[in-house]
Amino acid sequence: MVKPKPDQKLRLEQLRSIVLDLMQDMDIWNETNTEILTKINLGVLRINATQRHGVTRWKKGSDISNLEPSDVEEINIHPLLLDDKWSAYAAFVLHHEYIHALGFREHDKQFRFLEKSWPGSKAVKHGSEFTEFLRLKNAKWIWTCQNCNKEFPRKKPSKGRYKCRDCDTILKDRKI
Ligand SMILES: [Zn+2]
Ligand SMILES: [Zn+2]
Repeated sequence: MVKPKPDQKLRLEQLRSIVLDLMQDMDIWNETNTEILTKINLGVLRINATQRHGVTRWKKGSDISNLEPSDVEEINIHPLLLDDKWSAYAAFVLHHEYIHALGFREHDKQFRFLEKSWPGSKAVKHGSEFTEFLRLKNAKWIWTCQNCNKEFPRKKPSKGRYKCRDCDTILKDRKI
């Protein structure tokens, strides 16, 4: 766990109130006490995390067959999502984590239905943009296509194992 800095704390609180306000208006949460989610501590992931944009950590010894918001140790959000530029996607991510916190542990059909009910319809697109942004930020290598000039920033070299997704040519490595 990383302790959020004061400005991150403020940002997280703003994000929480935006998401909770929107949840109040969502039909799917009509019968749910979402107010209780305000009690969950929010924190940040490590800045160089690339795989996860948010995570819900459960308290040790929680009964996984009957999870409730009070079983949540904390919810962590990627610190780079706290930039204004990503605010719409950050709200989607926090809503995703709040679905977990309300007792839906797995990304099953019901979970995906609840997730899709979020009013921001471009969230999935923003999600892949954020993934690319993190890759670029953490890249040590650029995989390049010498046929169509596409570039794919990555942490590790491709070592001839990957092809260009557009033209099927084997990618070459270039160190940054
Ligand atoms: Zn999840
Ligand atoms: Zn290509």
